[in-house]
Amino acid sequence: MQTIPSSQGKEIVLELVETVRENAGYLSEIDGAIGDGDHGINMNKGFLRARGLLEDKELDLSGSLDTLGQVLFTEIGGAMGPLYGTFFMEMAQACQGEEEIGIAVFGQMLSAAYAGVVDVGGAQVGDKTMVDVLAPAQAAFRNAEEQDLSFRQALEAMRQAAEDGQESTRQLVAKLGRASRLGERSRGVLDAGAVSCCLILCSLADSIIPELDN
Ligand code: ADP
Ligand code: MG
Repeated sequence: MQTIPSSQGKEIVLELVETVRENAGYLSEIDGAIGDGDHGINMNKGFLRARGLLEDKELDLSGSLDTLGQVLFTEIGGAMGPLYGTFFMEMAQACQGEEEIGIAVFGQMLSAAYAGVVDVGGAQVGDKTMVDVLAPAQAAFRNAEEQDLSFRQALEAMRQAAEDGQESTRQLVAKLGRASRLGERSRGVLDAGAVSCCLILCSLADSIIPELDN
């Protein structure tokens, strides 16, 4: 099968929580170089809070992502609350009512998340933000889809583009957010939001790929 049942969605979101928890220290360390060092703390707080809300509920992928998005939107501090809140709520909306998640639905989820983040934050590729990961990752996925590759191959292409996008932020000067105040001095280190976005997209790919046939 080249789809996963939406009923497995809660496990996928709980894996995201685990990914953020494991990397909270790392994310704050990266944010500390050119920001205020709170990115991992903020993210972890929001994701753990979402885990608490998910615990005894029966939710599909859309319901689980929506719960996460709402918590992040309303409860986490920093620039990322509205951005990741929108990211997950848009994803949730794009798969609402779908019983099986395949390449077409997942492509729509990625595109909706990307459009939402750009709408809220106004970032472009090259500004040294999460968009430097999200834009190429969704483009690579959609490109794979257009070339009739499998869901698995599209997720692998997305993962590669996310990793390349993350690495591309190292040589960029920050144009938006707290790090932009440093100007040229923001060059030479990774962007924290790009790293968290890469971790999130890779976690989604890692959860879904083993469920798919080759
Ligand atoms: P804060 O900067 O308020 O401390 P965080 O540390 O949680 O917030 O998040 C910082 C990250 O936010 C940056 O690394 C960058 O990727 C991202 N970011 C900041 N502004 C924007 C924006 N307008 N659009 C997209 N991402 C942004
Ligand atoms: Mg910060």
